[in-house]
Amino acid sequence: MAKHDGNGMTRRHLLGLGGAAAGAALVGGIGLPSHPAEAQAAQEPPLPQVPRRTLGKTGKTVPILLVGGMALDRKFDPKLAEAVRFGANYVDAADCYLGGQSEAGLAAYFARAKNRDKVWVTSKSDKHDPKAFEQTVFRSLEQLQSDYVDMYYLHALKDADYLSDDLAVTVSRLKKAGKIRHFGFSCHDGNVAELLHKAAKTPWVESVMFRYNFRSYGNSELNAAIDAAHKAGVGLIAMKTQGSEAGFRDAWQKFEKTGKWTKHQAVLKAVWADERISAAVSQMDTFEKLRENIAAALDRNALSASEKDALDRYAMATRPYACDGCDHICNAAVAANVRIGDTMRYLMYHDAYGEPGKARDLFAKLPAEARALSRVDFTPANRVCPHGVDVAGLMRRAESVLA
Ligand code: SF4
Repeated sequence: MAKHDGNGMTRRHLLGLGGAAAGAALVGGIGLPSHPAEAQAAQEPPLPQVPRRTLGKTGKTVPILLVGGMALDRKFDPKLAEAVRFGANYVDAADCYLGGQSEAGLAAYFARAKNRDKVWVTSKSDKHDPKAFEQTVFRSLEQLQSDYVDMYYLHALKDADYLSDDLAVTVSRLKKAGKIRHFGFSCHDGNVAELLHKAAKTPWVESVMFRYNFRSYGNSELNAAIDAAHKAGVGLIAMKTQGSEAGFRDAWQKFEKTGKWTKHQAVLKAVWADERISAAVSQMDTFEKLRENIAAALDRNALSASEKDALDRYAMATRPYACDGCDHICNAAVAANVRIGDTMRYLMYHDAYGEPGKARDLFAKLPAEARALSRVDFTPANRVCPHGVDVAGLMRRAESVLA
Protein backbone atom coordinates (compact mmCIF):
# COMPACT_ATOMS: atom_id res chain seq x y z
CA MET A 1 0.00 0.00 0.00
CA ALA A 2 1.43 3.41 -0.96
CA LYS A 3 1.99 5.92 1.80
CA HIS A 4 -0.14 9.05 1.74
CA ASP A 5 0.85 12.45 3.00
CA GLY A 6 -1.61 14.58 4.89
CA ASN A 7 -3.09 15.93 1.66
CA GLY A 8 -4.13 12.57 0.32
CA MET A 9 -1.23 12.47 -2.18
CA THR A 10 1.02 9.46 -2.30
CA ARG A 11 4.76 9.96 -2.18
CA ARG A 12 4.90 8.50 -5.65
CA HIS A 13 2.43 11.11 -6.93
CA LEU A 14 4.59 13.87 -5.50
CA LEU A 15 7.65 12.38 -7.14
CA GLY A 16 5.62 12.11 -10.30
CA LEU A 17 5.11 15.84 -10.35
CA GLY A 18 8.89 16.26 -10.76
CA GLY A 19 10.12 19.48 -12.32
CA ALA A 20 6.72 20.36 -13.70
CA ALA A 21 5.56 21.38 -10.28
CA ALA A 22 8.28 23.98 -9.97
CA GLY A 23 6.04 26.69 -11.35
CA ALA A 24 2.94 25.52 -9.52
CA ALA A 25 1.24 27.26 -6.68
CA LEU A 26 2.34 25.41 -3.58
CA VAL A 27 -0.56 24.66 -1.34
CA GLY A 28 0.22 22.86 1.88
CA GLY A 29 3.80 22.27 0.69
CA ILE A 30 2.91 20.33 -2.44
CA GLY A 31 2.57 21.20 -6.09
CA LEU A 32 -1.16 20.63 -6.51
CA PRO A 33 -3.99 22.03 -4.45
CA SER A 34 -5.31 19.78 -1.76
CA HIS A 35 -8.96 20.72 -2.23
CA PRO A 36 -11.33 20.91 -5.18
CA ALA A 37 -11.01 24.57 -5.02
CA GLU A 38 -13.37 26.78 -6.85
CA ALA A 39 -13.00 28.77 -3.65
CA GLN A 40 -9.21 28.90 -3.86
CA ALA A 41 -9.02 29.76 -7.54
CA ALA A 42 -9.37 33.47 -7.11
CA GLN A 43 -6.38 33.70 -4.75
CA GLU A 44 -3.93 31.46 -6.56
CA PRO A 45 -1.20 32.50 -8.98
CA PRO A 46 -1.40 30.80 -12.40
CA LEU A 47 -1.23 27.01 -12.21
CA PRO A 48 0.84 24.92 -14.60
CA GLN A 49 -1.25 23.87 -17.56
CA VAL A 50 -1.51 20.47 -19.20
CA PRO A 51 0.36 20.61 -22.57
CA ARG A 52 -1.72 20.84 -25.74
CA ARG A 53 -1.49 19.35 -29.21
CA THR A 54 -3.30 20.13 -32.46
CA LEU A 55 -6.23 17.81 -33.15
CA GLY A 56 -5.55 17.08 -36.81
CA LYS A 57 -7.52 18.95 -39.45
CA THR A 58 -9.79 20.60 -36.88
CA GLY A 59 -6.85 23.01 -36.46
CA LYS A 60 -7.77 23.37 -32.78
CA THR A 61 -5.48 22.52 -29.91
CA VAL A 62 -6.66 20.19 -27.16
CA PRO A 63 -5.03 19.17 -23.87
CA ILE A 64 -3.17 15.86 -24.02
CA LEU A 65 -5.30 14.66 -21.08
CA LEU A 66 -9.06 14.52 -21.70
CA VAL A 67 -11.68 14.04 -19.01
CA GLY A 68 -13.79 10.92 -19.57
CA GLY A 69 -17.48 11.67 -19.05
CA MET A 70 -18.36 8.20 -17.79
CA ALA A 71 -16.64 8.83 -14.46
CA LEU A 72 -18.21 12.22 -13.79
CA ASP A 73 -21.12 12.88 -11.49
CA ARG A 74 -24.65 13.18 -12.81
CA LYS A 75 -24.76 16.61 -11.17
CA PHE A 76 -22.12 19.33 -10.89
CA ASP A 77 -18.81 17.48 -10.58
CA PRO A 78 -15.97 19.36 -8.84
CA LYS A 79 -13.43 17.02 -10.46
CA LEU A 80 -14.18 18.67 -13.79
CA ALA A 81 -13.67 22.10 -12.25
CA GLU A 82 -10.31 20.90 -10.91
CA ALA A 83 -9.26 19.47 -14.29
CA VAL A 84 -10.18 22.70 -16.07
CA ARG A 85 -8.03 24.72 -13.66
CA PHE A 86 -5.03 22.71 -14.87
CA GLY A 87 -5.93 23.19 -18.53
CA ALA A 88 -7.58 19.79 -19.03
CA ASN A 89 -10.59 21.59 -20.48
CA TYR A 90 -11.96 18.85 -22.72
CA VAL A 91 -14.68 16.46 -21.62
CA ASP A 92 -15.71 13.37 -23.52
CA ALA A 93 -19.42 12.60 -23.05
CA ALA A 94 -21.99 10.54 -24.91
CA ASP A 95 -25.74 10.48 -25.26
CA CYS A 96 -25.71 7.01 -23.65
CA TYR A 97 -23.19 7.48 -20.80
CA LEU A 98 -24.45 7.26 -17.21
CA GLY A 99 -27.84 6.08 -18.39
CA GLY A 100 -28.18 9.21 -20.52
CA GLN A 101 -27.22 11.53 -17.68
CA SER A 102 -23.63 12.50 -18.52
CA GLU A 103 -24.72 15.45 -20.64
CA ALA A 104 -27.18 16.65 -17.99
CA GLY A 105 -24.32 16.56 -15.48
CA LEU A 106 -22.32 18.80 -17.79
CA ALA A 107 -25.26 21.20 -18.09
CA ALA A 108 -25.26 21.46 -14.28
CA TYR A 109 -21.52 22.08 -14.33
CA PHE A 110 -21.79 24.85 -16.95
CA ALA A 111 -24.74 26.48 -15.20
CA ARG A 112 -22.56 26.92 -12.14
CA ALA A 113 -19.10 27.44 -13.66
CA LYS A 114 -20.37 29.68 -16.48
CA ASN A 115 -17.50 28.65 -18.71
CA ARG A 116 -19.14 26.79 -21.60
CA ASP A 117 -16.95 28.68 -24.09
CA LYS A 118 -13.79 27.58 -22.24
CA VAL A 119 -14.47 23.83 -22.28
CA TRP A 120 -14.47 21.56 -25.32
CA VAL A 121 -17.36 19.09 -25.22
CA THR A 122 -17.44 15.98 -27.34
CA SER A 123 -20.57 13.85 -27.37
CA LYS A 124 -21.58 10.76 -29.28
CA SER A 125 -24.50 8.94 -30.83
CA ASP A 126 -24.75 5.17 -30.85
CA LYS A 127 -27.48 5.54 -33.49
CA HIS A 128 -25.64 5.37 -36.79
CA ASP A 129 -28.19 6.00 -39.51
CA PRO A 130 -28.30 9.68 -40.51
CA LYS A 131 -31.81 10.47 -39.29
CA ALA A 132 -31.35 8.89 -35.85
CA PHE A 133 -27.89 10.46 -35.61
CA GLU A 134 -29.36 13.91 -36.20
CA GLN A 135 -32.10 13.32 -33.63
CA THR A 136 -29.45 12.31 -31.09
CA VAL A 137 -27.50 15.50 -31.75
CA PHE A 138 -30.57 17.57 -30.94
CA ARG A 139 -31.25 15.54 -27.80
CA SER A 140 -27.63 16.14 -26.72
CA LEU A 141 -28.00 19.88 -27.25
CA GLU A 142 -31.10 19.84 -25.10
CA GLN A 143 -29.45 17.77 -22.38
CA LEU A 144 -26.34 19.94 -22.43
CA GLN A 145 -28.46 23.09 -22.56
CA SER A 146 -26.00 24.38 -25.12
CA ASP A 147 -26.37 25.77 -28.64
CA TYR A 148 -23.54 23.64 -29.98
CA VAL A 149 -21.29 20.66 -29.38
CA ASP A 150 -17.60 21.05 -30.21
CA MET A 151 -17.24 17.53 -31.62
CA TYR A 152 -19.84 14.87 -32.35
CA TYR A 153 -18.88 11.24 -32.84
CA LEU A 154 -20.60 8.18 -34.19
CA HIS A 155 -20.13 6.02 -31.12
CA ALA A 156 -18.51 2.58 -31.23
CA LEU A 157 -18.53 2.35 -35.02
CA LYS A 158 -18.13 -1.19 -36.29
CA ASP A 159 -19.15 -0.91 -39.92
CA ALA A 160 -17.45 1.60 -42.24
CA ASP A 161 -20.54 1.63 -44.48
CA TYR A 162 -22.25 3.90 -41.95
CA LEU A 163 -19.89 6.67 -43.17
CA SER A 164 -22.27 7.14 -46.07
CA ASP A 165 -22.97 10.02 -48.43
CA ASP A 166 -26.29 10.56 -46.63
CA LEU A 167 -24.48 10.91 -43.32
CA ALA A 168 -22.01 13.35 -44.94
CA VAL A 169 -24.98 15.54 -45.99
CA THR A 170 -26.43 15.39 -42.47
CA VAL A 171 -23.10 16.28 -40.87
CA SER A 172 -22.62 19.17 -43.29
CA ARG A 173 -26.12 20.50 -42.50
CA LEU A 174 -25.53 20.29 -38.74
CA LYS A 175 -22.21 22.08 -39.10
CA LYS A 176 -23.67 24.86 -41.24
CA ALA A 177 -26.42 25.35 -38.66
CA GLY A 178 -23.74 25.67 -35.97
CA LYS A 179 -25.04 22.66 -34.03
CA ILE A 180 -21.80 20.68 -34.22
CA ARG A 181 -18.38 22.12 -34.95
CA HIS A 182 -16.49 18.95 -35.86
CA PHE A 183 -17.30 15.34 -36.67
CA GLY A 184 -15.62 11.99 -36.17
CA PHE A 185 -16.17 8.53 -34.76
CA SER A 186 -15.04 6.25 -31.97
CA CYS A 187 -14.23 2.55 -32.33
CA HIS A 188 -12.80 -0.17 -30.16
CA ASP A 189 -13.47 -3.47 -31.86
CA GLY A 190 -11.20 -5.70 -33.86
CA ASN A 191 -11.46 -3.67 -37.09
CA VAL A 192 -9.92 -0.45 -35.75
CA ALA A 193 -7.19 -0.55 -38.43
CA GLU A 194 -9.75 -0.87 -41.24
CA LEU A 195 -11.76 2.04 -39.83
CA LEU A 196 -8.68 4.25 -39.49
CA HIS A 197 -7.86 3.63 -43.16
CA LYS A 198 -11.46 4.54 -44.02
CA ALA A 199 -11.15 7.75 -42.00
CA ALA A 200 -7.96 8.61 -43.90
CA LYS A 201 -9.93 8.45 -47.15
CA THR A 202 -13.00 10.32 -45.88
CA PRO A 203 -12.36 14.08 -45.89
CA TRP A 204 -15.30 14.95 -43.64
CA VAL A 205 -14.04 12.69 -40.80
CA GLU A 206 -11.95 15.04 -38.68
CA SER A 207 -11.14 12.85 -35.69
CA VAL A 208 -11.15 9.25 -34.52
CA MET A 209 -11.08 8.04 -30.93
CA PHE A 210 -9.83 4.47 -30.76
CA ARG A 211 -8.46 1.79 -28.47
CA TYR A 212 -4.71 2.40 -28.20
CA ASN A 213 -2.29 1.61 -25.42
CA PHE A 214 1.11 0.20 -24.54
CA ARG A 215 0.01 -3.20 -25.74
CA SER A 216 -0.45 -1.87 -29.31
CA TYR A 217 3.21 -1.12 -30.12
CA GLY A 218 4.05 -4.36 -31.88
CA ASN A 219 0.90 -4.25 -34.01
CA SER A 220 2.22 -3.33 -37.47
CA GLU A 221 -1.24 -3.38 -39.09
CA LEU A 222 -2.56 -0.88 -36.55
CA ASN A 223 0.56 1.28 -36.82
CA ALA A 224 0.24 1.50 -40.61
CA ALA A 225 -3.40 2.57 -40.20
CA ILE A 226 -2.46 5.19 -37.60
CA ASP A 227 0.18 6.52 -40.00
CA ALA A 228 -2.34 6.79 -42.84
CA ALA A 229 -4.92 8.58 -40.69
CA HIS A 230 -2.32 10.90 -39.18
CA LYS A 231 -0.94 11.83 -42.61
CA ALA A 232 -4.48 12.55 -43.81
CA GLY A 233 -4.93 15.01 -40.96
CA VAL A 234 -7.34 12.93 -38.87
CA GLY A 235 -7.05 14.03 -35.24
CA LEU A 236 -6.30 10.90 -33.19
CA ILE A 237 -7.44 10.36 -29.63
CA ALA A 238 -6.49 7.30 -27.61
CA MET A 239 -8.96 5.56 -25.33
CA LYS A 240 -8.74 2.37 -23.25
CA THR A 241 -5.21 3.56 -22.54
CA GLN A 242 -4.95 1.50 -19.38
CA GLY A 243 -5.04 -1.69 -21.43
CA SER A 244 -6.80 -3.10 -18.43
CA GLU A 245 -7.64 -6.68 -17.99
CA ALA A 246 -9.21 -9.06 -15.58
CA GLY A 247 -7.02 -10.81 -13.04
CA PHE A 248 -4.34 -8.12 -13.26
CA ARG A 249 -3.74 -7.25 -9.64
CA ASP A 250 -0.64 -9.33 -8.92
CA ALA A 251 1.17 -8.12 -12.00
CA TRP A 252 0.09 -4.55 -11.33
CA GLN A 253 1.45 -4.65 -7.79
CA LYS A 254 4.77 -5.90 -9.10
CA PHE A 255 4.88 -2.98 -11.52
CA GLU A 256 4.11 -0.52 -8.71
CA LYS A 257 7.41 -1.48 -7.11
CA THR A 258 9.43 -0.20 -10.08
CA GLY A 259 10.24 3.34 -11.19
CA LYS A 260 8.71 6.59 -10.02
CA TRP A 261 5.42 6.33 -11.88
CA THR A 262 2.35 4.40 -10.96
CA LYS A 263 1.18 1.97 -13.60
CA HIS A 264 -1.73 4.32 -14.26
CA GLN A 265 0.65 7.22 -14.98
CA ALA A 266 3.14 5.12 -16.93
CA VAL A 267 0.61 3.85 -19.45
CA LEU A 268 -0.56 7.40 -20.16
CA LYS A 269 3.02 8.54 -20.68
CA ALA A 270 3.56 5.61 -23.02
CA VAL A 271 0.65 6.83 -25.18
CA TRP A 272 1.75 10.49 -25.09
CA ALA A 273 5.19 9.41 -26.33
CA ASP A 274 3.52 8.76 -29.69
CA GLU A 275 3.36 12.20 -31.32
CA ARG A 276 0.73 11.01 -33.81
CA ILE A 277 -1.73 10.85 -30.93
CA SER A 278 -3.18 14.24 -29.95
CA ALA A 279 -4.61 13.22 -26.61
CA ALA A 280 -5.64 10.39 -24.30
CA VAL A 281 -9.02 10.20 -22.62
CA SER A 282 -9.10 8.93 -19.05
CA GLN A 283 -11.99 8.08 -16.76
CA MET A 284 -11.02 9.81 -13.53
CA ASP A 285 -13.47 8.72 -10.88
CA THR A 286 -11.52 10.07 -7.90
CA PHE A 287 -9.54 13.20 -7.12
CA GLU A 288 -6.54 11.01 -6.47
CA LYS A 289 -6.65 9.63 -10.01
CA LEU A 290 -7.22 13.09 -11.43
CA ARG A 291 -4.16 14.43 -9.63
CA GLU A 292 -2.09 11.43 -10.65
CA ASN A 293 -2.96 12.01 -14.30
CA ILE A 294 -2.39 15.75 -14.19
CA ALA A 295 0.98 15.21 -12.51
CA ALA A 296 1.94 12.79 -15.28
CA ALA A 297 0.81 15.23 -17.98
CA LEU A 298 2.68 18.16 -16.45
CA ASP A 299 5.97 16.30 -16.22
CA ARG A 300 7.65 16.55 -19.63
CA ASN A 301 10.15 13.77 -18.89
CA ALA A 302 9.58 10.64 -20.94
CA LEU A 303 9.57 7.21 -19.37
CA SER A 304 13.08 5.99 -18.64
CA ALA A 305 14.45 2.90 -20.38
CA SER A 306 13.95 0.84 -17.23
CA GLU A 307 10.36 2.09 -16.85
CA LYS A 308 9.62 1.18 -20.47
CA ASP A 309 11.16 -2.20 -19.82
CA ALA A 310 8.97 -2.65 -16.74
CA LEU A 311 5.90 -1.74 -18.78
CA ASP A 312 6.86 -4.27 -21.46
CA ARG A 313 7.28 -6.94 -18.81
CA TYR A 314 3.93 -5.97 -17.32
CA ALA A 315 2.33 -6.27 -20.78
CA MET A 316 3.81 -9.74 -21.21
CA ALA A 317 2.82 -10.88 -17.72
CA THR A 318 -0.79 -9.81 -18.20
CA ARG A 319 -1.15 -10.88 -21.84
CA PRO A 320 -3.40 -13.86 -21.08
CA TYR A 321 -5.88 -11.46 -19.46
CA ALA A 322 -5.84 -8.58 -21.95
CA CYS A 323 -8.45 -8.86 -24.69
CA ASP A 324 -7.93 -6.73 -27.81
CA GLY A 325 -11.55 -6.72 -28.98
CA CYS A 326 -10.93 -8.68 -32.21
CA ASP A 327 -13.82 -11.02 -31.52
CA HIS A 328 -14.50 -11.83 -35.17
CA ILE A 329 -11.67 -14.32 -34.56
CA CYS A 330 -12.77 -16.04 -31.36
CA ASN A 331 -16.56 -15.81 -31.82
CA ALA A 332 -16.21 -17.72 -35.07
CA ALA A 333 -14.35 -20.53 -33.28
CA VAL A 334 -17.15 -21.44 -30.87
CA ALA A 335 -20.45 -23.03 -31.78
CA ALA A 336 -22.72 -20.50 -30.07
CA ASN A 337 -24.00 -16.95 -30.48
CA VAL A 338 -21.87 -15.52 -27.69
CA ARG A 339 -20.20 -12.11 -27.74
CA ILE A 340 -16.76 -12.69 -26.35
CA GLY A 341 -15.42 -9.18 -27.04
CA ASP A 342 -18.35 -7.43 -25.33
CA THR A 343 -18.29 -9.86 -22.41
CA MET A 344 -14.54 -9.33 -21.97
CA ARG A 345 -15.09 -5.58 -21.95
CA TYR A 346 -17.78 -5.81 -19.29
CA LEU A 347 -15.49 -8.05 -17.24
CA MET A 348 -12.83 -5.34 -17.54
CA TYR A 349 -15.32 -2.76 -16.22
CA HIS A 350 -16.01 -5.13 -13.34
CA ASP A 351 -12.46 -6.15 -12.49
CA ALA A 352 -10.25 -3.27 -13.55
CA TYR A 353 -12.47 -0.19 -13.52
CA GLY A 354 -14.26 -1.08 -10.28
CA GLU A 355 -17.69 -0.61 -11.89
CA PRO A 356 -19.53 -3.85 -11.09
CA GLY A 357 -23.01 -2.34 -11.38
CA LYS A 358 -22.39 -0.95 -14.83
CA ALA A 359 -20.73 -4.20 -15.92
CA ARG A 360 -23.70 -6.30 -14.80
CA ASP A 361 -26.22 -3.88 -16.37
CA LEU A 362 -24.47 -4.05 -19.73
CA PHE A 363 -24.17 -7.82 -19.58
CA ALA A 364 -27.88 -8.11 -18.73
CA LYS A 365 -28.70 -6.23 -21.95
CA LEU A 366 -27.05 -8.88 -24.13
CA PRO A 367 -29.43 -11.35 -25.80
CA ALA A 368 -30.17 -14.45 -23.70
CA GLU A 369 -28.11 -16.74 -25.93
CA ALA A 370 -25.08 -14.46 -25.55
CA ARG A 371 -25.42 -14.73 -21.77
CA ALA A 372 -25.69 -18.51 -21.68
CA LEU A 373 -21.97 -18.95 -21.14
CA SER A 374 -22.10 -22.17 -19.11
CA ARG A 375 -23.36 -24.15 -22.12
CA VAL A 376 -20.42 -23.23 -24.33
CA ASP A 377 -17.06 -24.93 -24.79
CA PHE A 378 -14.63 -22.02 -25.15
CA THR A 379 -11.45 -24.05 -25.56
CA PRO A 380 -11.45 -23.58 -29.39
CA ALA A 381 -11.40 -19.82 -28.74
CA ASN A 382 -8.30 -20.25 -26.56
CA ARG A 383 -6.58 -21.96 -29.47
CA VAL A 384 -7.30 -19.23 -32.06
CA CYS A 385 -6.81 -16.10 -29.96
CA PRO A 386 -3.70 -14.36 -31.36
CA HIS A 387 -3.05 -12.70 -28.00
CA GLY A 388 -3.05 -15.91 -26.00
CA VAL A 389 -6.03 -14.82 -23.89
CA ASP A 390 -7.46 -17.50 -21.61
CA VAL A 391 -10.96 -17.11 -23.04
CA ALA A 392 -12.38 -20.19 -21.32
CA GLY A 393 -11.10 -19.10 -17.89
CA LEU A 394 -12.31 -15.54 -18.29
CA MET A 395 -15.73 -16.59 -19.56
CA ARG A 396 -16.07 -18.76 -16.44
CA ARG A 397 -15.20 -15.72 -14.36
CA ALA A 398 -17.65 -13.54 -16.35
CA GLU A 399 -20.40 -16.03 -15.67
CA SER A 400 -19.71 -15.96 -11.94
CA VAL A 401 -19.50 -12.17 -11.52
CA LEU A 402 -21.70 -10.73 -14.31
CA ALA A 403 -24.60 -13.15 -14.64
S1 SF4 B 1 -10.28 -13.18 -26.78
FE1 SF4 B 1 -8.57 -12.96 -28.20
S2 SF4 B 1 -9.47 -13.21 -30.26
FE2 SF4 B 1 -11.14 -12.83 -28.81
S3 SF4 B 1 -11.51 -10.64 -28.89
FE3 SF4 B 1 -10.10 -11.02 -27.19
S4 SF4 B 1 -8.04 -10.79 -28.06
FE4 SF4 B 1 -9.45 -11.03 -29.80
